[in-house]
Amino acid sequence: MLRNGKDIADGAVITTQVCIVGSGPAGITAAWELQKAGVKVTLIEGGPNSPGGALDPTWDDKTLLYAGKADGQFAESEPDFLIRPNKDTQDYGPWERERMFGGTSAHWGGQSRPLDPIDFEARPGFPGWPIDRAELDPYYAEAARLCVLHGDDFSPETWAGILGAEVPELTGFDTTIYQYLGKPYRNFALRAFDGVTIADSDVDVIVNATLLGIDQQQGRVRSLKVASMDGGSPPKKATGFTIEADIVVLACGAVENARQLLLSNVGNDHDQVGRYFMCHPLSNGPVLSAGGAYLTDAQNRLMAGKTLSGNRPVPWQDANGVHVSGRFSPKADEQKRLGVGSCWFWADYGQYYFEMAPNPDSRITLADTVDPVFGQRQTHITWLLSDRDEATYTQTTGLFKAAVEELGGDFYCQPWSTVKAGLTVNGHHIGTTRMSADPQDGVVDADLKVHGLDNLYVAGSSVFPSTGISNPTFTIIALSIRLAEHLRGRVGAP
Ligand SMILES: Cc1cc2nc3c(=O)[nH]c(=O)nc-3n(C[C@H](O)[C@H](O)[C@H](O)COP(=O)(O)OP(=O)(O)OC[C@H]3O[C@@H](n4cnc5c(N)ncnc54)[C@H](O)[C@@H]3O)c2cc1C
Repeated sequence: MLRNGKDIADGAVITTQVCIVGSGPAGITAAWELQKAGVKVTLIEGGPNSPGGALDPTWDDKTLLYAGKADGQFAESEPDFLIRPNKDTQDYGPWERERMFGGTSAHWGGQSRPLDPIDFEARPGFPGWPIDRAELDPYYAEAARLCVLHGDDFSPETWAGILGAEVPELTGFDTTIYQYLGKPYRNFALRAFDGVTIADSDVDVIVNATLLGIDQQQGRVRSLKVASMDGGSPPKKATGFTIEADIVVLACGAVENARQLLLSNVGNDHDQVGRYFMCHPLSNGPVLSAGGAYLTDAQNRLMAGKTLSGNRPVPWQDANGVHVSGRFSPKADEQKRLGVGSCWFWADYGQYYFEMAPNPDSRITLADTVDPVFGQRQTHITWLLSDRDEATYTQTTGLFKAAVEELGGDFYCQPWSTVKAGLTVNGHHIGTTRMSADPQDGVVDADLKVHGLDNLYVAGSSVFPSTGISNPTFTIIALSIRLAEHLRGRVGAP
């Protein structure tokens, strides 16, 4: 069922078993998995059905409600990070988050791969997760099914077999394979799960329903304060209503998850909410080049996800639209030896993309300004890189240069200062409510429950203690499947 918050009477009280806030991949996956087991789920989404969708006129609420202050590294290369793309400036450069039914799945790339075992391990500069990779394996397998991927085997040997290609051997580097969801499965608001969209399922989906406040007393969330918006000119608050749920899951993306906890002063006893904002920084344009015939044609085809038609290389795709590509990333023992994060090298592509190290001062706080619709304090986000990030660049480019030259190729890269000035976040927003065994070190526990609160959970990449190098959404989905299993146990559902 899909309804509009504007059609819910002012002052109404909705009761439910689980209320999920935010309808991106994190929220919709958890909602789908819970309703399958008969759990009563209310899914609220602040944004409209879709731009120009049936239930709402299009309004630029993203600019109104997401605006704020972005500084630190943002000042150099992405000052409009919080509202990108910005309708007023027609900026269709690197996109960041969306505010609509389906969340940012409306325009993500579908590139998917599990995190690696090293990503869960504690090592200098990286805290480790309170769970290991083996804990997530069954959920990754389930996520692959939910995403309709070509199985859950990402090994380069398997894919070399499927493509009739060859695995490159580069000293110090793994060849890693990424699968891309077929286009019909990418938008989580529009796609069908087992033949049913989330709006046609038993989930009570309420679009145009923005969470404004979390009321907690004695360690439990008692109710949520929610409001709808009238997109007229000027836009204003329409109705306000309350949701009382046994369990609440915040799934608003890494920026808003932290902001919502800060706005309600919830879960922040140890000043951890909003800290460790991370991403996979991407150079804004080519900053390196690897040339010469250092890979064979068959190896190049694996990296490009191509098979042979006759003797012509052609892009491979399965019946569900899945395609693949390869990257080179430093081996786990090299990352440990060098004390750096991971990164990607494409075979013949000049951009640099890497694992940012957690930094407590790279963080979200509340700005002194308020939004013009609901009067809530806006976001102040400061993105800060560290010396370890510079070391990741210099060490991994050095390692890659040696590997390419060993095979008779050549390699060139620009200095860190030039690269740093042009880095963008590029859509992966990570950290800010991180998972930790000890409440002093993070915001949620290994079950994704906010430390010190009995019935408030967080879903999405805000809970990642470190980023690894794999795109985050496949892990977000795996964690949401695991979270739904945990919550089914709590509400006594099968
Ligand atoms: C251009 C681009 C390309 C990308 N490509 C890839 C890729 O190839 N692979 C990959 O793994 N990832 C990719 N990503 C990242 C991916 O889109 C995100 O990781 C994913 O969408 C996060 O899911 P989520 O559900 O946590 O958050 P979101 O998808 O951001 O959804 C959060 C939802 O919460 C809603 N919300 C926020 N605040 C409130 C509130 N107060 N009340 C109610 N609702 C609220 C928002 O409106 C939004 O709908 C890409 C991102 C971008 C921008």
